[in-house]
Amino acid sequence: MTKKFVGSSGHGLKIRGAKHFIDEVDEARKVTNEVHRILTSEYNGAGTVFHDNSSITQNQNLQTIVTYHNGQQRDLDWSIHFNAASAIDGPRGVEVLYYDVKDLSARMSAAIAKASGLKDRGAKQRKELYFLKNTSKPAILIEVCFVDSKADVELYYSNFNAVCAAIAEVLAAHLGYTKAQTEQAYDYAEAKVMLNDTKAISARILEGRTYVQVREIADLLGLKLVYNNESKTTKLYEVK
Ligand SMILES: [Zn+2]
Repeated sequence: MTKKFVGSSGHGLKIRGAKHFIDEVDEARKVTNEVHRILTSEYNGAGTVFHDNSSITQNQNLQTIVTYHNGQQRDLDWSIHFNAASAIDGPRGVEVLYYDVKDLSARMSAAIAKASGLKDRGAKQRKELYFLKNTSKPAILIEVCFVDSKADVELYYSNFNAVCAAIAEVLAAHLGYTKAQTEQAYDYAEAKVMLNDTKAISARILEGRTYVQVREIADLLGLKLVYNNESKTTKLYEVK
């Protein structure tokens, strides 16, 4: 059975989060949606995400998000937030809050830091946080970066895709997902092989190897080719 996740963005459309150089709610929604897309299209993952569009008070908002999570069949809950302290130009970094899944949180924080250059503030136990305390499955709350650190916001903006890919990769590993095999996964480059700088045949380079048609390379080198289908053997003969 494929394990399932439920993800959510912090706060809500009508009950906003932190805001300075960027808006927490807007960015949390982007990250949440992109991580969901990666997990369910690039990996064989399964799960849903939630954004609160209705709550008008903080209590209502927290309850609405947790009620959604607890109403789904799943193995892991995750929520995307952005942090705030006071406005600075310098860096602050990424941290991941948890109730009891410390290792996963530490791996997540380190992976986001590595992918983005954000400072790794690490895993922090926060048993009193409503989301972590009231979700009934293992849960992590990712504080991607600080909305009021100029350096953080620049790193987040320029590494948005890498940050989302890193979050998805750690979640996928935890939930046992594998990369979906698609044709696009084969990222080859067109190339050619030349003899004496004149005659050329076409080739492809894939993962550092150059691939050519044996028949074409035999023609290029003036060799006779005999193929035995039974033994899957290609025999090349020098033509005397
Ligand atoms: Zn928040």
